[in-house]
Order: sequence, then C-alpha cells, then structure tokens
Amino acid sequence: MQFIDLKSQYRLIEDDVKARIDAVLNHGQYIMGPEIQELEEALAAFVGVAHCIGLSSGTDALLAAMMALEIGRGDEVITTPFTFIATGEMVALLGIRPVFVDIDPVSYNIDPRRIEDAITGRTRAIMPVSLYGQCADMDAINEIADRHQLPVIEDAAQSFGATYKGRHSCALSRIGCTSFFPAKPLGAYGDAGACFTSDEGLAGRLREIRNHGQDRRYHHPHLGLNARLDTIQAAVLLAKLSLFPQEIEARARLGARYTELLQERGAASTADGYGSVLTPFVPPTHGSVYAQYTIQVPARDQVGQALASEGIPTSVHYPVPLNDQPVFQPSLDRAATPVSARIAKRVISLPMHPYLSDAEQLRIADAVARSTGLTPDQNRRAW
Ligand SMILES: *Cc1c(COP(=O)(O)O)cnc(C)c1O
Repeated sequence: MQFIDLKSQYRLIEDDVKARIDAVLNHGQYIMGPEIQELEEALAAFVGVAHCIGLSSGTDALLAAMMALEIGRGDEVITTPFTFIATGEMVALLGIRPVFVDIDPVSYNIDPRRIEDAITGRTRAIMPVSLYGQCADMDAINEIADRHQLPVIEDAAQSFGATYKGRHSCALSRIGCTSFFPAKPLGAYGDAGACFTSDEGLAGRLREIRNHGQDRRYHHPHLGLNARLDTIQAAVLLAKLSLFPQEIEARARLGARYTELLQERGAASTADGYGSVLTPFVPPTHGSVYAQYTIQVPARDQVGQALASEGIPTSVHYPVPLNDQPVFQPSLDRAATPVSARIAKRVISLPMHPYLSDAEQLRIADAVARSTGLTPDQNRRAW
C-alpha cells in the first residue's frame, strides 16, 4: 500500500501527459512557453479570480506574495505555528517577524478569536493556512483584517480545489498561494506553485517579481526572484486538470468514508471534543480536498508502528509546531500556543489519494481500531 499513489493517476492520463510534454519538446520554449498562459487562464477560471501567476513552488508563491505587498524587515505577519515550515520560513527569510497565533482544536486552522490580540502597529498581513485541505475560517479572518486594513494571504498549498461557502480556496482573500508539489491535491511532476489575486496591480507586481523584478527586457524597477513556473510542469498540470474535478469528488467521498468507518469503530469527531481517537470535522459549508486525512490518537508512535507492521504507511503532519523549531527560537514564547503543542503530539495521517480502494480503507480503519484498542464504548471515557 502506498501513502500517496501517483501511478494509478498517471495510467489514466499517460497519453495526454506525453503528448503535452512532447509539444513542449517540439516548440522548445522551456521558459515561459505558451502552456504557462494557457494554464494560468484555466486555473484563474477554475478558482474564480481575475489573475493566476504561475510560480516555481508554493514556497516561492508565499515569498513573492509578501514581496508584492512590500512587507519586509521590521514588519510582523500573523500566522499559525501548526503548518509546514515554508509558511514561517518565508516570513522570517524576508526579515519579517512571524507572530504565531494558536489554532482552533476542531479545524486545526488559525483561531480567528485569538488574532486580534496579536495585532500591533507593526502587523502588515495575516497569513492563515488552509491545513489538510480545509479552508481556514476566511470570513472571520477577513473581517478582522478589514477592520485593521491588513491584507490576508491564504497559504492554500494544501487546499487547492477546496471550497468555502460556495467559493474556491485561493479566491478567499487578497492573495491566495498554492503549491503543485507532486503530493499536493493538484500535483505537477516536479516543483511548481501559483499565486491568485483579483487585484490587477498586485498581479503585475507578482509577474515582475517572478522574473527578477523585470518590467521590460533588462529593465528592473524592483528586486525579484527567479521563480518562474517551468513550461514542462505547466504542460503536466494542463493534462492533470482534466481529471481534477473527479479527483476532488473522490477525495471528499473517501475522506467522509474514513470518518464513517472510524466512527463506527468508536472514534469521535474533533467537534465532539472527547474520545481517544478523533476524526477530522468538516462543516457543511466547507468542501475539503483532504490533502491529508489526519486523526488524533493517544500513543502515536505505537499506532504508526502497528500500522507499519501491517504494511500501512503513515506520516505525521506536523510533529513540531513552528514556534518550537530551533530556527524560530529564541525570540518566541513557547507557551503561547498550547493547543498546537498538544495536537502536534497526537496527530497521524493515513494513506490518502483519489485511487484508494474501499478494501484498503476498511483494512486501514480496522488496523487503527486494533492498534488503539478502540471500541465504541471505551472511547468516550478515554480522553
Ligand atoms: C507544501 C506546502 C508549502 C510549500 O510548497 P512547495 O511547493 O513545496 O514549496 C507551503 N505551505 C504549506 C502549508 C505546504 O503544505
């Protein structure tokens, strides 16, 4: 069994991928070839914004977004500690102080109720992460941001394709940044990413920043990056885009089925707030793409080992909150995010991809129940 199976998907689109790559090899425009614009138009239409700017990775998308907003040394950006390193890393790399605000224990995303206390005169943006494929509470976050005239940058690296109150992730704030790393819900065959915005001025700046701050050939009004999306990756993504809507549906169905199977075996939802094994909670207003299907268990290492012994791979997203990472010490207060600290010790992700079979899911759910000693009655008392 594989944690993420990319081969089954490839078999379905093999001819199209090869034809699309072949077209690039024939025209030879490896940098900024016509596939870039074709992809950007298709993705902007899919997301429902005016502009998509293809970039070399999700990490570079975050970096370019903050550069485009002219946030830098001495400024502060409010974000979540319960995320992949890139979120806080790009903030700090620009000399910006990351201000880590604790998460909501039900959604695992930044807790909007705690944001306002973290805003200071130096705050220049709020950067929520839509973790595990489920959008952060963007309405509540935008409302606070508007009141303080701050832009919101959605780190949507795990949530491309997700919906929130009928709109798509990446269309929910001033700038949305995503990743097409191969293991993400929409993955290329190498590194790739994108920014989304309906702000024309910002889109123009992002296009310049990805190409060394150049506005016309050899004329550079700003400092920029070499952060262009590769033409070959754009070609791969165009081929994959035809499958994406049905993969989003499959992900939603499989995520819901995991929850059902685990709850039949005694697990509770994070929304219930009790139980030794907790399944994710996705409110009816949200459509998750389940970049990860992540549960909480009491003895995580034992569960991981027990599943591994049955040939079931697992992974931990993420074992250490960013404010406990050595690179972000010593300026930060460890005690400030107790929810993240607690949950980081308990989360474990199960195999998740659109081609997971019913039989595999059943085997995984049974293995989780066995390894946690879970039974329907016990669970309620255990936490
Ligand atoms: C994957 C990821 C990134 C970085 O994306 P890359 O394309 O790997 O650079 C940033 N933030 C989050 C939350 C991610 O999961």
